[in-house]
Amino acid sequence: MRILIVEDEKLISDAIAAYVAREKYEAVCAYDGEQALEIWDAESGNFDLIVLDLMLPKISGQEICRRIREKNSSVPIIMLTARSGESDVVEGLDAGANDYVTKPFSPRVLMARIRAQLRLQNSGNVRKNFTSTICCDGRVEIDSERVEIRKDGVPVQVTKSEFLIFSTLASRPIRTWSREEIIRSALGDDYEGFDRTVDTYIKNLRKKLAEAGHENGWISTVHGFGYRLDS
Ligand code: CA
Repeated sequence: MRILIVEDEKLISDAIAAYVAREKYEAVCAYDGEQALEIWDAESGNFDLIVLDLMLPKISGQEICRRIREKNSSVPIIMLTARSGESDVVEGLDAGANDYVTKPFSPRVLMARIRAQLRLQNSGNVRKNFTSTICCDGRVEIDSERVEIRKDGVPVQVTKSEFLIFSTLASRPIRTWSREEIIRSALGDDYEGFDRTVDTYIKNLRKKLAEAGHENGWISTVHGFGYRLDS
């Protein structure tokens, strides 16, 4: 496995490279956007994954993402973003990133995300427009193709409404959703239930996901407003 690490802060780059090497993957480092694209072209895109910082000298992470997708590559891209930058995350995902990790991050979490993306890539399910979202510290995967939620690779038995609600939360992690927004986005305008029905769905989802090792099943209650997926 070859991993391209694009990060201008040498300390961070070195730390990631060390962890990557520990997994016996090969790390190639680029320290600015221009260098990243040069290396990508020189090696004919022969990488299994890219760890891509968003804020880079010369060419931004989003732009690199866009250009690599324009080259018809489906290489998994994990973005590194600042914690406060919700719009950065959204733009990054829109530009074609598969996942993101917010700074400061734990190298173990980043490695879990890397492994999850590589697993996905090798599962034989990968198509060009394969829509799968990895969330919850890399432990939960939402497979829109199969309408399935998997935690640590094992399918979780959820109802269709639970699936839609969880997908909605995961589509914009960090963002807090009101009950009304959840109903509208997940279940549609024609849905004739009460706001509080969402609470029941969330309670069930939490219960089903909590076994993966997080007491809230990664879904936080934002009092007086609604719900949020932690990451
Ligand atoms: Ca940077």
